[in-house]
Amino acid sequence: MKINYSAMTDHLGSSAVRDILKITQGKEIISLAGGLPGEELFPVEAVRDAYNRALAGSASALQYGLTEGYTPLREAVAGRLTDQGIPVQAAEMILTTGSQQAIDLLCKVLLDPGDAVLVEAPTYLAALQVLGSYRADIHRVDSDEDGMLPEHLEEQLRTHRPKLLYTVPTFNNPSGASWSRERREQTVELCRRYNVLILEDNPYGEIRFDETPGAYPPPMAAIDRSSGGESCVVYTGTFSKIVAPALRTGWIVGPAGLIGMIAKAKQAADLHSSAIDQRALHELLMSFDIESHIRLISREYYSRMKLLSAEITSRGLMGAHFQEPRGGMFLWLTLSGGINTTDLLPFAVEQGVAFVPGEVFYSSQPMKNTMRLNFTHTPPELLPQAVERLEKALIAYNAHLEASLARTLN
Ligand code: PMP
Repeated sequence: MKINYSAMTDHLGSSAVRDILKITQGKEIISLAGGLPGEELFPVEAVRDAYNRALAGSASALQYGLTEGYTPLREAVAGRLTDQGIPVQAAEMILTTGSQQAIDLLCKVLLDPGDAVLVEAPTYLAALQVLGSYRADIHRVDSDEDGMLPEHLEEQLRTHRPKLLYTVPTFNNPSGASWSRERREQTVELCRRYNVLILEDNPYGEIRFDETPGAYPPPMAAIDRSSGGESCVVYTGTFSKIVAPALRTGWIVGPAGLIGMIAKAKQAADLHSSAIDQRALHELLMSFDIESHIRLISREYYSRMKLLSAEITSRGLMGAHFQEPRGGMFLWLTLSGGINTTDLLPFAVEQGVAFVPGEVFYSSQPMKNTMRLNFTHTPPELLPQAVERLEKALIAYNAHLEASLARTLN
């Protein structure tokens, strides 16, 4: 039977990261491609105990639950957010199936085909997929290492009259970059003036490499709420990076009316997120020192990032440059001008290393000489070998380029 797909599927695309993970499976490849946390750091024992306690409590742990989420977990998340400078009432937050679902549901209730949305360049690939699926008209805002450039942001706000600005301002996926306080304030101020919602996606904000108090600016949601006036920042976060992604539990915070609308959309999508996972997470938060755990993983990820950074610097990788991230899970590498990292990838896989070519993270005008490297999943002892393989791939790729050039000249 011929299946007539909806027009939406033309805009779905497929996640390049998932495609790369597929080709690397079962091979002797060191993959710096996936955005995966380090498995050896998962608190397996504590999670097992938490599930046991959730199930021991009562059979209702296996019953349908509330669309908004398991109330004690909602309250615990609201408490953590309040401690982080984002005071939240329960009615202003719901739990979602990962923050990925939060992005999807917000776009579902907000966007009609053709509505303009502003994003960073580069930005999170799966957010671009969601925006594409709702047929948003996506526009990029130019950034430097401190965040979006206010002049360009204002020009894009005036020209396109967007409904939404999507951003990962803290330890961005893929660039690792983190916005300054001033840019956060300017962005909130401008979006308020133009009546545009901001979706601040913050899955990495707690993975900080500098433990000095006050070393980082607050989330935009905190700036928004402390500055009076009507709130324009919707905020999403997740347990995926600070506990484990398999628990598929995230949250979204925003004005009560919007959260109510998202709850209706969630009913239609999946009734509610896994009740047993939420109960287990709540048990975990009650008995396990999550703050110490976050410090432990952050220290380990910092040392892996330093190792990767030192290896790249010592090998040079033909003039590659990067800024060391101050947190998160990714290092963004810019290679010399003529290199196309999508074409480089097969050479890298041949040498036994994988990365994500930078171009997939752009809504338009991609920088093709960039790549995203994850430093949290690969065991640290393999990182030097990964960079050595990358260097070999670059040499083979360059030899190939020179040979094709010689052929065209002959
Ligand atoms: N936003 C960003 C920027 C991410 O990198 C990710 C995970 N790759 C997500 C959202 C979704 O994470 P989850 O659904 O596991 O919470």
